[in-house]
Amino acid sequence: MIVNGNTPVEELKGVGPKTSAIFHSMDICTMEDLLRHFPRTYLVFGGLKKINELRDGEIAAVRARIDSVGNLRRVKNKMTILPIEVSDDTGKMTIKYFNMPFMAKAVRAGGYYVFRGRVKGAGASVTLVQPRKYAYDEYTDLSGKYQSMYPLTKGLKNSQMVKAVQSALDKAAYSEDYLPEDIKERYSLCDTSRSYRYIHVPETDKEVAIGRRRLAFDELFFFIIYLRKNKDFLNDSPNTCPMVESAEVRRFIEKLPYKLTRGQNKAVKDIIEDMTGPSVMNRLVQGDVGSGKTIVAIIGLLNAVANGYQGALMAPTEVLAAQHYKTVTDLIRDYRLPFKPVLLTGSVGASAKRKIYEDISSGEVNLVIGTHALIQDKVIYKNLGLVVTDEQHRFGVRQRESLAGKGIGPHILVMSATPIPRTLAIVLYGDLSVSTIREMPEGRSPIKSCVVGESYRPSAYKFIKDEIAKGHQIYIICPMVEVTDEEDEDPELQNVVGYTDRLREELGDKYRISYLHGRMKPADKDNILTEFAAGNIDILISTTVIEVGINVPNATVMMIENSERFGLSQLHQLRGRVGRGSDQGYAIFMTSKTDDKTKERLDILGKSCDGFEIASYDLKTRGPGELFGVRQSGDLAFRIADVFADADLLTAASEYADEILKNDRHLSDEKNKLIREEAGHFGKNNLDFRTI
Ligand code: ADP
Ligand code: MG
Repeated sequence: MIVNGNTPVEELKGVGPKTSAIFHSMDICTMEDLLRHFPRTYLVFGGLKKINELRDGEIAAVRARIDSVGNLRRVKNKMTILPIEVSDDTGKMTIKYFNMPFMAKAVRAGGYYVFRGRVKGAGASVTLVQPRKYAYDEYTDLSGKYQSMYPLTKGLKNSQMVKAVQSALDKAAYSEDYLPEDIKERYSLCDTSRSYRYIHVPETDKEVAIGRRRLAFDELFFFIIYLRKNKDFLNDSPNTCPMVESAEVRRFIEKLPYKLTRGQNKAVKDIIEDMTGPSVMNRLVQGDVGSGKTIVAIIGLLNAVANGYQGALMAPTEVLAAQHYKTVTDLIRDYRLPFKPVLLTGSVGASAKRKIYEDISSGEVNLVIGTHALIQDKVIYKNLGLVVTDEQHRFGVRQRESLAGKGIGPHILVMSATPIPRTLAIVLYGDLSVSTIREMPEGRSPIKSCVVGESYRPSAYKFIKDEIAKGHQIYIICPMVEVTDEEDEDPELQNVVGYTDRLREELGDKYRISYLHGRMKPADKDNILTEFAAGNIDILISTTVIEVGINVPNATVMMIENSERFGLSQLHQLRGRVGRGSDQGYAIFMTSKTDDKTKERLDILGKSCDGFEIASYDLKTRGPGELFGVRQSGDLAFRIADVFADADLLTAASEYADEILKNDRHLSDEKNKLIREEAGHFGKNNLDFRTI
């Protein structure tokens, strides 16, 4: 544990008021927050290479002479390419700059420079794409060093981050390690202070791996301790909100315009049995995107309300909350359901909020739909009987404790679309009962998917225009927000902002095109999503922030750029955003990579529509340490551990946790004092709602 971890960031050397304000906006308030803000990736300034040593795909630095600067070429989509011919004593090479015409003036024919960038091709056609240029001395100074690249925000430079982290590392003091030496040895774990140093200022790949391993172990270990504690807590919890099966529920199900699927029926049965049984419900409903989890949740809420209790439905974003609110109000209108609902989110004004709080505590409303604002301290329920959380893996221990502190122990129902393999589910959901909806509603035609290359682009755009002409809407997903020169990224990766400009140019102003990404203010994001849902935007270009739960039945096409960059599960979740209404849905997976492996992987999406099957294929083909996949979807949001790639660590952590808890269930032994302290500390700082 970092004993002085609570030191405010503004007390760190080199962190002025401006920087600290930015840190605060990123939820980095203390030294520990800063040290737990881990690098996104590392730049390694390797030794210089000769042209004939370059390998396709690698990032390399070369010292070369400028032979000639070519003519600027204009290509499709307003892009420019500047070729520069260079050579060294082993051969010749072409350098290409995209949209950087000024580089023509930045180099001198006959001059020597170091260029560092991504290598493409080999032999006579070898090129270096969008390299950064250094003077020779400048490069040798950097050579051999690792540069940590942090997640940033507007106004914050990576170099400021590096400086602040360095002062934090210098200042940090660590308590005695909770892991004894023999255990560290057993699981090959380094000590804490080293783990932070290695993750932030490594000198080799191996150090990154060692540091990461320890930090991930801690995260998983304390998570499991929490799970076990939670399980005890739940096992001891009788049903304090007893219910009967209401006739209202049967009536509603019979009147629905469709028949519930087998999985939906089973889930409803499980839920009713739990709520009418002897212990409080803690159930996860797992089902692929589009499998119809919402109606199952609403049936559960209906039963609670019909029994005279209040219900709460909690969504991860305001947009999703508003969407659920609309679904419910439509159902009330059509089926005269006994709900008296209210929408409670962070953006509700102060006086309106006060009125809502009053209505909740008086029992005037019996269904509260919103973001996690709805379980905050100020909200006093009259008789809360059921809390449903949508697209959130679990109801945080802290939230449950906070409700218990108010003297209520409602039934808890968690809805999730993320498919988790059984072995992992046992560790992760050990404390929950699980209902799985395996089949899709009848009559849903599967989304038509195709994997295509650049040459298909004109046809894709034509197809999109035709769909818009039919009154439909389109999503286009790009992997990046915008290219900044500090990022060591492939310039050919599509970025949201640049892409939007080019598409507007290409399609003309007849179309209403907007963009969306995670760095936008929440209010702006919500605004765009609301406009899209209302049909006021034809094409929405977005990063993967669109992924969770959005339901716009009028959207029929999902086009994904650089699709090789995403995990298969993630691509599957993304395509689940279309084909949700009566119209046929289409997914276009664009990729410029033509190798067999990429094609084979993406082709799975054309062959299968089963999220579970896709996830298990994803798991099999993912190399360790690869960052794409479920983790990035923000769903299983550990800071550094990855339940897929770190499956062995998860097992180790759970083994050690059980070893400890076997003889000391409540961590009350003197010899487990350090674990107890650390668990309290870790839980308080890291196992928040956000973390699963
Ligand atoms: P998800 O499981 O991804 O949350 P939703 O609950 O949003 O899926 O359901 C997707 C769509 O399927 C909704 O428009 C819903 O009305 C519809 N739906 C749900 N269950 C059925 C069913 N049994 N038959 C036909 N349509 C259904
Ligand atoms: Mg849903």
